[in-house]
Amino acid sequence: MLRVGVHVSISGGIYRSFDRAKDLGCNCFQIFSHSPRSWKFNIPDKKDSKRFVKKSNGNDVEPLVIHGSYLVNLATPKDGLREKSIKSTQKEIDFSNKVGIDYVNIHPGAHTGSGETQGINNVISSINQIQGLDETELLVENTSGSGTTVGYNFKQIKEILDRVDRDIGVTLDTCHAYTAGYDLGSKSGLEKTIEEIEETIGIDKIKLIHLNDSKNPLNSNKDHHEHIGLGKIGVKGMERIINHPKLKDIPFILETPIDDQRGDEENIETVKKLRNKG
Ligand SMILES: [Zn+2]
Ligand SMILES: [Zn+2]
Repeated sequence: MLRVGVHVSISGGIYRSFDRAKDLGCNCFQIFSHSPRSWKFNIPDKKDSKRFVKKSNGNDVEPLVIHGSYLVNLATPKDGLREKSIKSTQKEIDFSNKVGIDYVNIHPGAHTGSGETQGINNVISSINQIQGLDETELLVENTSGSGTTVGYNFKQIKEILDRVDRDIGVTLDTCHAYTAGYDLGSKSGLEKTIEEIEETIGIDKIKLIHLNDSKNPLNSNKDHHEHIGLGKIGVKGMERIINHPKLKDIPFILETPIDDQRGDEENIETVKKLRNKG
């Protein structure tokens, strides 16, 4: 079954995200629990949370995902920033456990000059401080490798998975993988990428796909998402990803732009059209 959704706004109350998602044709979706560019974390009040749970129980919409704040950096060598990042992630997990959100998605972060080994060690020790990963699962997302970000290949992601003493999963972002050098636009490139995933983390660890096309070319290490099929991965590339037997049952969440060309609804429609029936 095709699970497809987008990132939706929680403005006016977190429970409103459900109606927005359904209006757009989603059967899964992602939200920010608070402004992603702020450390201020106003946990939705009891009334809002209750309404959210009620909506969630009455709808076949899953999984529900929180995307962590952009300020979070678990790989940083700065102790203060790392502490803040761990706390912020813990708050997301605690809230998610309370209202039944399935996944909290985080970027591993950037080592900012301390080196990849140190960066990855910091990610691992940070994740090991997070409590309550039972109902809600933490997902680490692959990065495009821009700047000093870590987690841009599956070997690094595997190291994180192997060395944490928590059970965590992975989000595969197709734009990030592409600009990090995995040629998802070609048939052989997609097969090679899936092979590498199977040889490292295993396909079953991928709980979510951030289905994004890329404005930038292969190996550019840039993180600019494009509408489905209109970027460098292209229509054929997207069609192969959406229908691949090893990927097609993983939920797809789009983080595509909203501009004059297209909005969320059109991109969701595009995914549905590209999906082969039967
Ligand atoms: Zn993403
Ligand atoms: Zn991105």
